[in-house]
Amino acid sequence: MKCIYCLKKIKNNRSDDHVFPDAWYPDSTPANVQRWTVPACRKCNAKLQVIEDELFIRWGICVEPNLEACRGIEAKALNRQFFLGVKDPRRFGRKLSTFNNVRSNMGQYDPKRTHKGFAPKEGVRGTLAVLTPNKTRRIFSEKLVRGTEYKLLGRFIPWTKRINIWYEMAEDTDKDYAFWRDIASRAKTVSLGPGFAVKCAINPNYPEQSFYQFEIWGHIKFFAFVHTKSFKRELLLFWSFIKWHIINLYKRFRF
Ligand SMILES: [Zn+2]
Repeated sequence: MKCIYCLKKIKNNRSDDHVFPDAWYPDSTPANVQRWTVPACRKCNAKLQVIEDELFIRWGICVEPNLEACRGIEAKALNRQFFLGVKDPRRFGRKLSTFNNVRSNMGQYDPKRTHKGFAPKEGVRGTLAVLTPNKTRRIFSEKLVRGTEYKLLGRFIPWTKRINIWYEMAEDTDKDYAFWRDIASRAKTVSLGPGFAVKCAINPNYPEQSFYQFEIWGHIKFFAFVHTKSFKRELLLFWSFIKWHIINLYKRFRF
């Protein structure tokens, strides 16, 4: 048995991880909706839990409270933010650091860094926004992709594959995502209750390639594309990474 996240062998530290975190299911979820779990090692499970907790507060306190897709989420996130109902004192320290983390990331509304579902309503200006750090979001999205690939297609994503992810932000035009929306419109929809909408498709010409569309609480939407790494593309990515560092170093020493 392998851990689906780190791909290492699970010996006696097996734990079942919820693909979509258990707390993230809205109150409107019917009882017969199955809550996906996957085999994971305890180390990955604990690491991901910290990220999920932080994102839950960050996104949960900003959702539209009266939407069916996120009923009860805002209240739950606010309770967590202010430590209401904290029974286990060992978890308190972690919650305090989560709270500080979220608070330090509050900023002015930025259409490029705010998800489409969190954009302010028309006529509202100068809104404070909770911005999502790229790294946290990336780890969380990758986790959803790995879990869904395992649940729907029964396979792991090895290191020879790359996961590309696109998020719909407030400023994007419909044109930017026309290509991905077109694929999504033909993909199979998987029902996980009103909170989550998952679409999955396999490339008929290259069955090792898969495509996903995730929608969380009707607020956050992203597309994922899983494909085998190509040597040329990896080299180009590595070069752009190096270039970025050279430019940054140059800027730092020049000014
Ligand atoms: Zn693991």
